[in-house]
Amino acid sequence: MKLSERLEKIPPYLFAEIDRKIAEARAKGIDIISLGIGDPDTPTLPPIVEEMHRAVDNPKNHDYPPYNGTEKFRKAACAWMKKRFGVELDADEEMLANIGSKEAIAHVFLAFVDKGDYTLVPDPGYPVYHNATVFAGGTPYHMPLLEENGYLPDFDKIPEDIAKKSKLMFLNYPNNPTGAVADLEFFKKAVDFCKKYDILLCSDMAYSEMTFDGYKAPSVLQVEGAKDVALEFYSHSKSYNMTGWRVGFVCGNAKAVKALGTIKNNIDSGTFKAIQDAATVAFDIDEKYINDLNKMYQERRDVAEKGFKELGWNIKPSKATFYLWLPVTRGMSSEQFVTKMLEDAHVVVPSGRGYGEYGEGYFRVALTKDTDTIKECIERMKDAGIKY
Ligand SMILES: *Cc1c(COP(=O)(O)O)cnc(C)c1O
Repeated sequence: MKLSERLEKIPPYLFAEIDRKIAEARAKGIDIISLGIGDPDTPTLPPIVEEMHRAVDNPKNHDYPPYNGTEKFRKAACAWMKKRFGVELDADEEMLANIGSKEAIAHVFLAFVDKGDYTLVPDPGYPVYHNATVFAGGTPYHMPLLEENGYLPDFDKIPEDIAKKSKLMFLNYPNNPTGAVADLEFFKKAVDFCKKYDILLCSDMAYSEMTFDGYKAPSVLQVEGAKDVALEFYSHSKSYNMTGWRVGFVCGNAKAVKALGTIKNNIDSGTFKAIQDAATVAFDIDEKYINDLNKMYQERRDVAEKGFKELGWNIKPSKATFYLWLPVTRGMSSEQFVTKMLEDAHVVVPSGRGYGEYGEGYFRVALTKDTDTIKECIERMKDAGIKY
């Protein structure tokens, strides 16, 4: 059997490589700690689980859901956008439930990208933006996210001919993998750029609620006129510890919402209505739950930063996400560093190169382990002589 060309064009899935290396080491009986994957390690917030118990017993929830999400879920999502950002949205025209944002992110490319079209994607970045462009037959142009620019792309550096051929741009703040944040002024520049070149601006807000030290992340839809060009992708996964539930929403430009809805309508049949009911509870959840979760990540961040500082890293506390993005030991490549981490310290961290060419020279730490385990990793690094 011959596979499609599109499958041959994409690099191996980043975490498949990591999983293989871990399995190899574990098969040799080595005790490995993984700071690799961005999957919350604590349970789904209790009020959501309680609602799920009720919702699953309701036979009305057992049939196919409406293709764009239940009315209850969409209305609650709109009310949340209003409460959280002051953004008004129409629950029928400007709101769409998704099966977790990865699904919607991948599918939006099918709605806008044809052969010969370009997309503008961040590098380093979530690998789906690049790969879904390739699946759609398009060409991704990588916008470098550089440390000296606070990991924000410089729109002035995008060649005019590429901008003219681009159909879609992805931004992701708070950012995976760098932990960087963007302000409204930056979003305004992005909206202006996308209006100028008639580009759909897609904002991935997977980490919108995972913020520290009093910082609150803005929405691109707060920029005046943003709805003319922008879609925003939200996910329950990281905010409420719901990665396995597969639920979230997309909102913004009505034409784009409709287009994505048409693609989805032909590919999937939505998230189980009981899950949408349970996810609706998240929109009104007591803020204490989110604050406690963020406090937990903030403590882990502080422990990790203190540890890395002791090993010679000079790092600034990140304001958001459960990631630290750090340069590898001077003189090493990302690959050499993560291999040394695995083989000598028995700690798994992904190579920055897995997030794109501009990730070379970095590695990512996911704070998805408790403080004792993070301290243990630092000790192991110390014992293995790994320093900045
Ligand atoms: C985790 C993540 C997502 C996808 O989350 P879902 O579980 O599919 O909702 C999207 N974008 C980024 C940047 C992520 O890190």
